[in-house]
Amino acid sequence: MFARKRGILFVVSAPSGAGKSTLCNKLLDDLEGIDFSVSYTTRPPRPGEVEGKDYFFVDRDTFMDMVRKGEFLEYAEVYGNLYGTSKSFVQERLKEGKDLLLDIDVQGAKQVLENMQEAVGIFIFPPSLDELERRLLARGTDSKEVIEKRLEAAKWELDQAGMYHYWVLNDDLERAYQVFKGIVLAERHRSKRLERM
Ligand code: ADP
Ligand code: 5GP
Repeated sequence: MFARKRGILFVVSAPSGAGKSTLCNKLLDDLEGIDFSVSYTTRPPRPGEVEGKDYFFVDRDTFMDMVRKGEFLEYAEVYGNLYGTSKSFVQERLKEGKDLLLDIDVQGAKQVLENMQEAVGIFIFPPSLDELERRLLARGTDSKEVIEKRLEAAKWELDQAGMYHYWVLNDDLERAYQVFKGIVLAERHRSKRLERM
């Protein structure tokens, strides 16, 4: 009776440590028809991170060459490293009717949400800044200096939440996940994204 016109671009941001990767990975395991957009970064890999799955890890020269060639839909410097989203990857998936999850920072999200009216912005809040620090320490993947840099950025990042369509509080993980998944399912059923056949 009806089918979807195009894939939906979900732009998800949060202060580092709020639980964005945890929520995104849960969604990707749980739902069909949605892919993760693998970004390019100049940040060194963390233990356990896989090339081509978590990120494409490149040096600054390679990254800047891609910038010059216009290969990024958006890019930004975040906590001292460069991160960017591949334009061709995003466009191909959306055309195929696949939804895409972009885990990007607030600067990148601003570029995408302003230029792509159909995109859906979701901002994940931690319960508090103290809890954010506890989670960053518990994750154990970043040095003290890196954690301090990320906590300092968190206050400004929280102030940018107004540009997103949805806010999700990641207090209890299961509860937050139900809200997150609910947003994705509801967006998939908006009549403007569907056509009668
Ligand atoms: P982000 O991707 O936003 O930087 P992560 O998903 O890596 O954050 O989560 C940071 C840490 O907090 C991880 O160790 C993760 O297991 C933990 N975490 C995520 N969500 C919750 C939650 N609701 N309650 C407690 N700990 C959480
Ligand atoms: P991390 O180093 O913890 O993986 O990511 C740091 C920050 O960079 C997070 O806020 C994450 O959302 C953001 N990020 C990851 N990929 C991209 C990207 O392609 N573009 C932008 N603008 N930010 C990104």
